[in-house]
Amino acid sequence: MSDLSMNQARAAQYLQRFRDHTTGHYINGRWVTPEDNRTFTNINPADQGSLGQIAAGTQREVDQACDAALNAFSDWRDLPGTERRKLLVNFADKLVERAEEIALVESSDCGQAIRFMKQAAVRGAENFRFFAARAVEARNGQALYQPEHSNLTMRTPIGPVGVITPWNTPFMLATWKIAPALAAGCTVVHKPAEFSPLSAAILAEVSEQAGLPPGVWNMVNGFGESVGKGITEHPAIKAVAFVGETVTGTYIMRQSAATLKRIHLELGGKNPVIVFDDADFERALDAVVFMIYSLNGQRCTSSSRLLLQKGIRERFLAALQERVARLRVGHPLDPATEVGPLVHTEHFEKVMSYMDIARKDGATVAVGGQRCEALGQGNYVQPTLFTGASNDMRIAREEIFGPVLTEIPFETEEEAIRIANDTQYGLAAYLWTRDQGRAMRMAHKIETGMLWVNSENNRNLPSPFGGIKLSGVGRDGGDYSFEFYMETKNVCMAHGTHQVPALGKG
Ligand code: NAD
Repeated sequence: MSDLSMNQARAAQYLQRFRDHTTGHYINGRWVTPEDNRTFTNINPADQGSLGQIAAGTQREVDQACDAALNAFSDWRDLPGTERRKLLVNFADKLVERAEEIALVESSDCGQAIRFMKQAAVRGAENFRFFAARAVEARNGQALYQPEHSNLTMRTPIGPVGVITPWNTPFMLATWKIAPALAAGCTVVHKPAEFSPLSAAILAEVSEQAGLPPGVWNMVNGFGESVGKGITEHPAIKAVAFVGETVTGTYIMRQSAATLKRIHLELGGKNPVIVFDDADFERALDAVVFMIYSLNGQRCTSSSRLLLQKGIRERFLAALQERVARLRVGHPLDPATEVGPLVHTEHFEKVMSYMDIARKDGATVAVGGQRCEALGQGNYVQPTLFTGASNDMRIAREEIFGPVLTEIPFETEEEAIRIANDTQYGLAAYLWTRDQGRAMRMAHKIETGMLWVNSENNRNLPSPFGGIKLSGVGRDGGDYSFEFYMETKNVCMAHGTHQVPALGKG
């Protein structure tokens, strides 16, 4: 039996229950079957088969979930941090116990190659352990001295929060958002993306297994325009953490305005990777390939614009073309696969439309540009490289969100900065140079939330994660997450020595 067949057989076992029973909502510690049996079909991106029926939530179900989160809030808030820590560590342990299931289900549901999903549960568990460890100190503040007063700041959880996640790496992103919310003392209503809802159901099950009290973790399946909108408008929800497209982010802002919610938006990107003549050639090449073709290019921090300096360009492009042409496209459950099928036909069509756009705009399709016909009905796109593009072309301006890289030549540092910044986005940037001075100069000038110098995207949980411009509002990570999920209160205490203004004494 091949590794692929073995994985398929194991995955089929884990997926069977989703095929046999509708995946409902998880509200107030109970699984809820959808109102009026409203469901939609979850499609397998590798073959267009059904992965089962998913509940299409209604306003009533959103209300039930938000009310449950509100009812559970005060007890969860008041639970000692040490208890919350214990429950969240428990949660992390349970995730690891289900690591194989999570990897196989996630890979089947969103088309991400199993090689990248194998560690999903462990990394999700790390997110929980990291924030669990900080749960005890989350409420701590500062003591700010004045001669006749002392000010104490204290943080309290903001209240029930909505967490709305996209389809690209749904499991990781949900854990990344929900772990700090729970550690801070907030209760949660989670809405997963309709294209890849299965791992969210597993997370809700794990919350139950870990012993989280009913109402602390609620999950409502369904569509953005109904369930997502309902959460953002619900008065019980005090903050919304959203990850998704920029246009949707603008809706979230508008929808949340009437109830003045705090919002955190992690949105799209068109991230540059700038390779200078003096770069470490092999390391830069590895990173460039990894940061656009891993995770099918369905990655917010993918380096989708490659800026190559004139002196290195020819040699770099030759090596790059060879590598891109050799990428292994295949079934997501095959351990040899490097690029799997795109999540959904709708997204597949969008990505494919850029092949013609590139040609029309005058770029060269140096590698790929076609559907992988040999792989049947799945949403398989050939890893694609556009070369000789200019930054005003649509392939350099719009987020394609697939295994598609656009190369743009440049000559000077100033030109690289100008091209890098000439975009509506500002999520991530990558710089390859051996010149430390140049790296520092550019770090100050590149308009981005995150810059990696001589590295691919390296994760560090305490560091701030987030974008500027149309890539988002707010930061995740470490204390930045607590700042979002908590309110800061100032308590000012007089020393009893100051003169209180006395009015009405004649
Ligand atoms: P999307 O915006 O279409 O959907 C994201 C979520 O929002 C889904 O759950 C969807 O149902 C919901 N939604 C849709 N309309 C809504 C509305 N009116 N109100 C409330 N919720 C609504 O995004 P997607 O296509 O699922 O994900 C891909 C996008 O996510 C890309 O643009 C990518 O760059 C971005 N992303 C960003 C980051 C980051 O950290 N910056 C990380 C991952 C993905």
